[in-house]
Amino acid sequence: MTRPYLGNPKYTIEILQKYDFVFQKRFGQNFLIDTHVLDKIIHASGITKDDFVLEIGPGIGTMTQYLAEAAREVAAVEIDDALIPILGDTLKDWNNVTVIHGDILKTDIRRLAMEKNEGRPIKVVANLPYYITTPIIMGLFENNVPIDSITIMVQKEVAERMQVGPGTKDYGALSLAVQYYAEPEIVANVPPNCFMPRPKVGSAVIRLTKHEVPPVEVKDEKLMFRLIRASFNQRRKTLVNGLKNSQELNYSKEEIENALHKCGLPLNIRGEALTLEKFAELSNAFS
Ligand code: SAM
Repeated sequence: MTRPYLGNPKYTIEILQKYDFVFQKRFGQNFLIDTHVLDKIIHASGITKDDFVLEIGPGIGTMTQYLAEAAREVAAVEIDDALIPILGDTLKDWNNVTVIHGDILKTDIRRLAMEKNEGRPIKVVANLPYYITTPIIMGLFENNVPIDSITIMVQKEVAERMQVGPGTKDYGALSLAVQYYAEPEIVANVPPNCFMPRPKVGSAVIRLTKHEVPPVEVKDEKLMFRLIRASFNQRRKTLVNGLKNSQELNYSKEEIENALHKCGLPLNIRGEALTLEKFAELSNAFS
């Protein structure tokens, strides 16, 4: 087997020229060209030769080469037609990689985990297309895909939003959703010059280690997330008004005030002050 070589920008440029590749902005294409960052991602993901890894958006196969070296087996889902023949070329020396031509948001990942890993928890690694970061992550968590961890490159601000708690301006529905399902840890900050072409924003690698059991007990998860969304849709309003104005909920002011009272929350509190534990308690008070 040859060693991974595409982390070196010289080879990336050679491949792009060989295939006259044209970057597609609409697919969020920024390819990694930094071997240190690639090593860091592989290390942070904790992949071993026992693991089946799902890569989302392999691009020209740069990280895929590293993943193929580290893992037992890799499946890489790529949407762009133009990249499929390129991946056939750059990955030909690794016989443990399957490229799936398709949209990750329409891929049955549960089935893939069943077929490739007998339903055991899989590791997901990706330099994500930033335009669909949230639906990809929420899809993985909410569709009961057996997940061990997700190690991903995202926009720096988004990584920070996933990790923060109450009392900060970045705290919101994404923070709570991620922290309900997983333990987030930012493992690297990555500047724009590590990509080709350079993105306009800074990036960060974050690892989300799935909780075996959620950190709070919730009778009705869907209700808790409806309450969370309603609270942050109107951040500047009090929690009572946010919940009363929500299209997704149908509670009277009195019912809302009673629930807050049960949880020992003052009536003028804002949603952004509530921890995950308090949102769980509140949703249990309603259900
Ligand atoms: N992994 C490569 C790297 O690190 O150099 C490429 C990362 S690039 C930020 C994102 C990749 O995701 C692109 O190859 C893009 O074509 C692909 N992509 C975008 N939307 C996708 C989707 N809905 N499903 C699958 N792949 C997608």
